[in-house]
Amino acid sequence: MDPSSGIGSDEAVPDYERVDVSVLIIGAGAAGARAAIELVDRGVDDVLVLGKRGHGDAHTTWARGGINGALGTHDPEDDWAIHAADTLKEGHFINDPMQVETVTKGMPDRLRELDEGGMAFSRTDDGEIDQRYFGAQSFRRTAFAGDHTGESLLDTLVEQAQDREVPYRENVMITKLLSDGDRVYGAAGFDMDSGEFVLFNAGNVVLAAGGYAAVYNRHTSRDDENNGDGPALAYDAGATLMDMEFVQFHPTGMAVDEDDPDWSPWSGRLVTEAVRGEGGRLYNADGERFMERYSPDQMELDARDVVARAIAAEIAAGRGTEHGGVYLDISHRNEAFIKERLPRMYERFADLGVNMAEEPVEVAPTAHYGMGGVRVDAYGETDVDGLFAIGETMAGVHGANRLGGNSLAETVVYGVIAGERIADRIDGPGTIPDAILGSVFEPHLTDLAAVADQGGTHEVETLLAELRDLMWTHAGILRDDSSLREGLDRLADLRERAADVRVGSRTGRSFEFAVDLGFSLVVAEAILRGAIERTESRGAHYRTDYPETDDDWCRNVAFAPADLGGMKPHTVPVADPSAAVQSALDAGYELDYHQLE
Ligand SMILES: Cc1cc2nc3c(=O)[nH]c(=O)nc-3n(C[C@H](O)[C@H](O)[C@H](O)COP(=O)(O)OP(=O)(O)OC[C@H]3O[C@@H](n4cnc5c(N)ncnc54)[C@H](O)[C@@H]3O)c2cc1C
Repeated sequence: MDPSSGIGSDEAVPDYERVDVSVLIIGAGAAGARAAIELVDRGVDDVLVLGKRGHGDAHTTWARGGINGALGTHDPEDDWAIHAADTLKEGHFINDPMQVETVTKGMPDRLRELDEGGMAFSRTDDGEIDQRYFGAQSFRRTAFAGDHTGESLLDTLVEQAQDREVPYRENVMITKLLSDGDRVYGAAGFDMDSGEFVLFNAGNVVLAAGGYAAVYNRHTSRDDENNGDGPALAYDAGATLMDMEFVQFHPTGMAVDEDDPDWSPWSGRLVTEAVRGEGGRLYNADGERFMERYSPDQMELDARDVVARAIAAEIAAGRGTEHGGVYLDISHRNEAFIKERLPRMYERFADLGVNMAEEPVEVAPTAHYGMGGVRVDAYGETDVDGLFAIGETMAGVHGANRLGGNSLAETVVYGVIAGERIADRIDGPGTIPDAILGSVFEPHLTDLAAVADQGGTHEVETLLAELRDLMWTHAGILRDDSSLREGLDRLADLRERAADVRVGSRTGRSFEFAVDLGFSLVVAEAILRGAIERTESRGAHYRTDYPETDDDWCRNVAFAPADLGGMKPHTVPVADPSAAVQSALDAGYELDYHQLE
């Protein structure tokens, strides 16, 4: 459904529960949990965290490889400014330099604090937090908990939140933010277990609702997460979207036999970059270590976009494997090493009958992360007063491409910053104006009830699958103007059919998916229009009709609020880095990749 719909409806308003709270945190991943902890520690305990799933069960738990911070465990010459320089280089200099500085400066303290909080970091023989190589980073600065870093991070934060008795509400889906375009007053949603509608009256809302990579059919996200809820909710409320065209295609998603029921659920699932970080090599079906041709110095650890395009090119040239991928081989490492450093990967493949210590696995690119999202200021606040967007929902830190390990970093740093900012100026829950109740909330609820009862022509799941196919075909790794425009036409057709879906109940999955379809349509339009607008190639955005990077395009593409189906892009200049970061850039640090062998 169209999340902006509902104005002007004259049906009776359905019953709803009302919740008054000073700060509503939408999303219970690392970003939401960390913001809640900060608020409580600063004396704001009238906070509610909610999520679409159970407590502790957010997408964050799927993060594997690590979290960056310049601790210098192995490489004492590393520091935050070099981390910032690496992040800007990987982001092809359209990141927000101030945000990058905030994250990289903040991380050493955040890592130490997580360590003290009990996070199960892997350790050196001396007992220090271990740090590993990750692609395109000058030093070993990726801290990790085996290959289950996200799970360990969220377990730690959830425990800290529970110690502080942070209220949490499970299985609630937010369908609309209540705003007049300038200020937020709360949110509307429904309880996914009971089907009851809920009004949240909250003067401050933190959107920590994750990203949008699952608008592609081949993706690494958990099922039914990362459909773009966060960016779409914010855009509808009056916030600006930015950098949406930049979608990171991870080079190594599982390539499987789609007809084999044991393997097919694993299609596109992430094979962590840590496999390459620990020495994994890529081979095509002819046995060539093909990265020698594409990136003779950095080899398998070059930036994700470079490796993803190299793999796609090998497959397109007919040198792919039986299941449409290439081989990733770490069998030159011994089994004990693999089990210690990559335990979850080892187990996953062992369960499927493959021993990584003896044979290679098949991999191909997969949509992994949306670098874009909601534009925010230095504190994570959007253009709408009182509305914050943090974690994967926000834009700015990653620019045109994300360094592996930087997104978990962004969640905890911005969780603290947004929490601190809100705590500094909060004065109670606020009161939702009658005009907003009458003109925004009630019509929305009436429409929502109508969608839940709708017995339309089209299956929601079929339309969602069609949308994801469309995005893979028209806005995938390689893009060009005519295919992107064809994608927009197909999207317009899909949007018409999306108004006539079959749902039937407020507690069935189809209702959740119908709302998500609306969110995904918004995000898909922004990706397509952003990609059309950016007539150059940069980072993860590769235009076959404009293969070069153009200095004049060192700008962000943004979308101010507008009607769906007619988003108008504008561009925003990028600020200069600080003197400290510029000097780290000038020093030209980079990893000597050969030391990895
Ligand atoms: C397979 C995989 C591996 C990764 N590995 C790494 C890694 O090693 N290092 C790294 O730095 N990054 C990694 N990432 C990225 C990283 O996991 C995410 O960027 C990060 O966890 C996002 O955290 P978050 O708190 O912003 O959102 P999430 O953890 O996605 O949480 C979103 C929350 O919002 C809730 N929500 C969403 N929509 C709604 C709605 N409409 N109403 C109510 N609630 C809603 C969800 O239920 C959930 O609670 C990986 C990503 C993937 C896919």
